Amino acid sequence: MVGSGPAGFYAASALLTSDLPVEVDLLERLPTPWGLVRLGVAPDHPNIKAVSRAFEKTAAQPGFRFFGNVEVGRDVTHDELRRLYDAVVYSVGAQTDRQLGIPGEELPGSWAATEFVAWYNGHPDFQELEFDLSHERAVVIGNGNVALDVARMLALTPEELAPTDTTDAAIAAINEAGIREILVVGRRGPVQAAWTPVEVGELGELGGADIVVDPAQLELDAASTAELEAAPPTVKRNVEHLREYATRTPTGKPRQIVLRFLASPVAILGDGKVEAIELVRNELVDGRAVATDERETIPCGIVFRSVGYRGVGLPGVPFDERAGTIPNEGGRVAPGLYAAGWIKRGPSGVIGTNKKDATETVGLLLEDARAGKLPSRGDGTLESLLAERGTEAVMYGGWEAIDRAEKAAGEPHGRPRIKLCSWDALLAAARDR
Ligand code: FAD
Repeated sequence: MVGSGPAGFYAASALLTSDLPVEVDLLERLPTPWGLVRLGVAPDHPNIKAVSRAFEKTAAQPGFRFFGNVEVGRDVTHDELRRLYDAVVYSVGAQTDRQLGIPGEELPGSWAATEFVAWYNGHPDFQELEFDLSHERAVVIGNGNVALDVARMLALTPEELAPTDTTDAAIAAINEAGIREILVVGRRGPVQAAWTPVEVGELGELGGADIVVDPAQLELDAASTAELEAAPPTVKRNVEHLREYATRTPTGKPRQIVLRFLASPVAILGDGKVEAIELVRNELVDGRAVATDERETIPCGIVFRSVGYRGVGLPGVPFDERAGTIPNEGGRVAPGLYAAGWIKRGPSGVIGTNKKDATETVGLLLEDARAGKLPSRGDGTLESLLAERGTEAVMYGGWEAIDRAEKAAGEPHGRPRIKLCSWDALLAAARDR
């Protein structure tokens, strides 16, 4: 199994609880497990992060081993894994962001949401980034839950941030930020937004930010009205929240989150850094956003692009560049080679979606095993290969040492943990078992 996010752990669990005698090695490029549960899910959502308790149970099963700090493509190749194991399951998630493809996207101050999320969550590859939050207006492009996470994190008060495991650097930066307005821009209308009611509802309960929705933004065309009538309850609840927000008058909280629909960025403007964003108003045609010729330039100092994550290909592993996934059927790439989670189906769905997804993949793996279709493996072990290369794998006990150190650091401050967020600190803590 390669990648220790939800998909990797759900797949491991399905294998270890099957009726075949199975051993699972779970390889992870970071010294820490849980994927986006640790490094994506917003720090002010500790209940969601608690899903890791289920993964801990899987890790305690006989036959399970964790190999952290082992990256496929860097420390071990795909071909080597194919020789060492009866079957390889890739559950490497979606490691990068989708591009907008507009001028100015690369200007300093234009960030992928992936980068900001990884930074405030303590991902060791992203701690050198410096986000200048001194500007009055930040713009978040996208209408999914990640866009709302970014907007909400920017709006949290010191009291709201203090009990979380947000990194200290991010807490300090957000507390000192000059941001007054966080403008969230969606290319389609309120009915088509991808976010979910809990996240939309939270926007109305922030201690330090008013939610602002212009009632005109919620006027629906005939097609959207019909779509809303036939929509699932979650979409109806989203729109109910928005309609209630449209009745509110700002109460003078230090920040405002402003929601704007049917608008797309056409350029990010500025002389050497972000100074403004140019938006075009859209109309919906057959559910698609189509640009009109009405344009508007909005001054802003920082832009977060939250238009989706994207899978990255691994050397030697089949990859569909357009979809950003490993081509598969139900998770089977070929007998002995499988995919699960975001790298299998693309970056959508909640954590639990990966359970069904990974179980489907493992079902096919077991079917191939029972039918004798798995290719035969060669000699050797991963441990000896890593030892030859001088790769210092972080085994599960090493992660438990990191976990203990982080929790002990957080405990006196009423925080779930204070994350170690440099490679050196993580590896040193892992050695201290
Ligand atoms: P990931 O969780 O990304 O795990 C992939 C793992 O593979 C990572 O640990 C990575 O380091 C590792 N890896 C990558 N490449 C290699 C390699 N070459 N070798 C070894 N290891 C490798 N869902 C919810 O239900 N609630 C939420 O509140 C929520 N919030 C979210 C917030 C954000 C910002 C994001 C992006 C997603 C959120 N989700 C949430 C969705 C949820 O996180 C995903 O559905 C889930 O994490 C996808 O699981 P995965 O295992 O496919 O990928």
